[in-house]
Parts: sequence; C-alpha cells; structure tokens
Amino acid sequence: MHDENCIFCKIANGEISAATLYEDENFRVILDLGPASKGHALVLPKQHYANVYEMPEDLIGKAYIVAKKMAEKMTDALGCDGFNILQNNGVTAGQTVFHFHIHLIPRYEGDSVGLHWQAGKLTDEEKEEILKKIVG
Ligand code: 5GP
Ligand code: ZN
Repeated sequence: MHDENCIFCKIANGEISAATLYEDENFRVILDLGPASKGHALVLPKQHYANVYEMPEDLIGKAYIVAKKMAEKMTDALGCDGFNILQNNGVTAGQTVFHFHIHLIPRYEGDSVGLHWQAGKLTDEEKEEILKKIVG
C-alpha cells in the first residue's frame, strides 16, 4: 500500500535516496533533512499509513522496537546525553508529512531543542469529566 504522491513512500522504498541508518523488510530509518539536533532521524514504515490511527498494531509495535534499538545504537555512537522519541498526528499536533513516522531526537546538554509546555493544573471537575468520557 503506497501513495504515489507521498515523499516518505518514495524514500522508504528507495525511489528517492536518503541517508539510511537502518533498513529491514518493514522500515527504513533516515536522517531528517531539517534536524532538531545532530543525528535527528526518522523511522519510516515502507507501507503508507497517514498517522497512528491508521497503523496496524503489530506494525506499530515493531516500529517502536526499531526506535528503541536505534536510540541505543545512536546514543552509543553519538554520545548524546538524552533522547526524545516522539510522533506527531495531525496538523494541530505539528505533523507536516502525512506518512506515519517516529522522530528519534538525540539530546545534548545545553541544546536548544524546544519540546516544552506550560504545566496547567488538573482540576477535580476536569479529571471527572475526562475519566467519564474515556473510562465510562
Ligand atoms: P512532522 O512535522 O510531520 O512530524 O515531521 C516531518 C519531518 O520530516 C520534519 O522533521 C522534516 O524536517 C522532515 N522531512 C521533510 N521532508 C523530508 C525529506 O524529503 N527528507 C528527509 N530526510 N526529511 C524530511
Ligand atoms: Zn507514504
């Protein structure tokens, strides 16, 4: 299942070249062209799924195993001090390429990567409302 208008389909399947850190039958891991930090990479499935909602459960499990192994290998190789593994779904959440991908972002002490938000306060009212909606 490929989308002929999707750049990540073309990269994941080798039609467009990219700096590849790892490849297997289901995934290609490439360096991000607009890195947040040195070594920023992306785990791309070779099949086209737009986002987390479309990803089959067995494949997403495998994707996170690849992400973990890459984080270990990249931490050793690059000597980073920490690691963010994250994934955006939808424009509002910052997704710009609509082919599922996991960001692998090595972190270095004093770097300027910004993944911060202002912590709010969970009120009893909001807690009850959310629990009712999700748990029932
Ligand atoms: P998103 O914003 O969808 O979570 O992440 C898309 C990521 O893909 C961005 O970090 C962006 O720099 C990267 N990107 C976009 N186009 C290309 C490309 O053609 N090649 C590579 N290697 N990375 C890309
Ligand atoms: Zn695609």
